[in-house]
Amino acid sequence: MIARIPALCSLLLTAALTFGAGPSGPPLESAVQRFSKSLTFRTVSHADPAATDRLELARFHAFLREAFPLVHSRLECRLIGQSALLYHWPGTRPSLKPLILLAHQDVVAVDEATLHQWTHPPFSGVIADGFVWGRGARDFKPGLMAILESAEWLLQQGFVPERSLYLAFGDDEEVQGYGGAGAVAGHLAAAGVQAELILDEGGGVALGMVGGVDPRRPVAMIAVAEKGYLSLDLVVEGSGGHSAASPRENPIVVLADALRRIEAKPFPAALQEPVPSMLAGLGEGMGFWKGFVFSNLWLTGGVTTRVLLGDPETEAMIRTTVAITRFSSGVQDNVIPGRASAVANLRLLPGCSIPQAMQHLTDAIDDPRVKLSVRGRASEAPPVTPVSTPGYALISSAIRTTFPGALVAPSITAGTTDIRHYARVSHNLYRFVPSVSTHTFSGNGHRTDERLPVENYRQYLTFYSTFMREGAGPRSGLPTD
Ligand SMILES: [Zn+2]
Repeated sequence: MIARIPALCSLLLTAALTFGAGPSGPPLESAVQRFSKSLTFRTVSHADPAATDRLELARFHAFLREAFPLVHSRLECRLIGQSALLYHWPGTRPSLKPLILLAHQDVVAVDEATLHQWTHPPFSGVIADGFVWGRGARDFKPGLMAILESAEWLLQQGFVPERSLYLAFGDDEEVQGYGGAGAVAGHLAAAGVQAELILDEGGGVALGMVGGVDPRRPVAMIAVAEKGYLSLDLVVEGSGGHSAASPRENPIVVLADALRRIEAKPFPAALQEPVPSMLAGLGEGMGFWKGFVFSNLWLTGGVTTRVLLGDPETEAMIRTTVAITRFSSGVQDNVIPGRASAVANLRLLPGCSIPQAMQHLTDAIDDPRVKLSVRGRASEAPPVTPVSTPGYALISSAIRTTFPGALVAPSITAGTTDIRHYARVSHNLYRFVPSVSTHTFSGNGHRTDERLPVENYRQYLTFYSTFMREGAGPRSGLPTD
């Protein structure tokens, strides 16, 4: 249900809508109502797929059919796996490799204990104070809805794609994406589909957040790489015993010592692609000296590495990281436990394989009493996509149409996304969302008061409609063989 908008907020919204209504994308006013409505569906995914509310996802699908009638009458739409959606918009030249746009239907759960902290209830989709509020308002219903709005609008405009488009919406991205994106990628691979490029969430637009760049100039980051994911169980077993007798070997102490040694031996830092290209790209928007430093890493690499290691976020771009996230042992005050266990969560830099990462930790621990094993499903980092491609240029062009004057640079994302399942469907994997962050506003993805500025949603509509029109149209600049 769409909330009523208080008078003042309505005025603010009207101002945003009037300002935002432009000829370069779907009209904002009705689109934002549909976006708001999409947030009222509780499409929460769970690690146990049986716990996911499939009826709610079916209701969400019914809403999409009603909201986008042309898309659902002109495009082929398939249900893949349990609740993933795959749309195919055939182009007039079947020999051209298709484009694939990804988004996900699912959202993370809302912690009941935090309900009172939400300014508006998390599944209300309230439009107020220039924002659309609710779980999924940032991650990632604006992408899913803006892609469908763009397709519907392009159909209304009589647009006929030369190059085929696929729109694929997983239902379990927040819990690793094997059932949704994994199944869709498997379906496409089995059908022999090789895409020219695939675009998923990741990256974004920063305002005033990159030191040295004019704070009014948008900095758009296209993630051409992402890190691999690995969780390890670390276990020490001993004989245990009564606490009155001083133990020879206490599993808690042995394991604690091992964890300390892991922290003392971080993975080596590597100034590898896409980081040099990112620094060169950002350097273009900086003053002479910073630009010189970032464009001449052969000379300045040592200093630059030290600077990047100084901040946890930039450090994560140049090394495999380890975080100890769980520790458990002991059942009673007067019993020495027979077992202690911990979980280490690693994010692997491209080029650092799972066996290499495990060997590094084994060497760091240097104690055979500590047993390491892979916990759950791990994934290697997908290959880094080159920057000097027509696909990268196409995305950059849609970004500059949406954010005039933007500085565009490649990046690597520390989080995992659905796109990693698609490495067998395309060599060109890009991650970008036109979502704008500043020092004071990040949109709170996954957190309390998740929300998106209405004005930012206009930019979603402009970006995706531009990307689809230019990418599937005759002057995309993409290869034709
Ligand atoms: Zn997401």
